Amino acid sequence: MGHYCRICGRSRPNEKFSGKGHRNHVCKKCQQRPKAEREAIEQQDEIFGYLKQSNISDRNMKRLQELAESENPRTGRLAQIARDVAIVKSHKRRRLKVLAEKRPDLLAALEETGLILAQGGGVDF
Ligand SMILES: [Zn+2]
Repeated sequence: MGHYCRICGRSRPNEKFSGKGHRNHVCKKCQQRPKAEREAIEQQDEIFGYLKQSNISDRNMKRLQELAESENPRTGRLAQIARDVAIVKSHKRRRLKVLAEKRPDLLAALEETGLILAQGGGVDF
């Protein structure tokens, strides 16, 4: 049975994790990456996660506001886009349709950054 590393996204054998890494779901190799790099990956995952939720809450919005000020340019950009999307349509349902009507620029930004993948399959488009 392998173990999932949330940084490299791979399923790796147990011996590739140390005690602490096991708990944090970070493999030994990824633990050696610079902290800023690991943080950026985690935060970007977090932003994708918000867009996957059925609704982006006020609390999520506060967090996105924080992330929008990240020193990492990609993290900051993703957070800004997610925040702007949530302002237009916090609920996931019909989000893309509403964006296409009201904010085609944001829809384009979702496509460009790959954030649109968080939206999932087309049923609610
Ligand atoms: Zn890893």
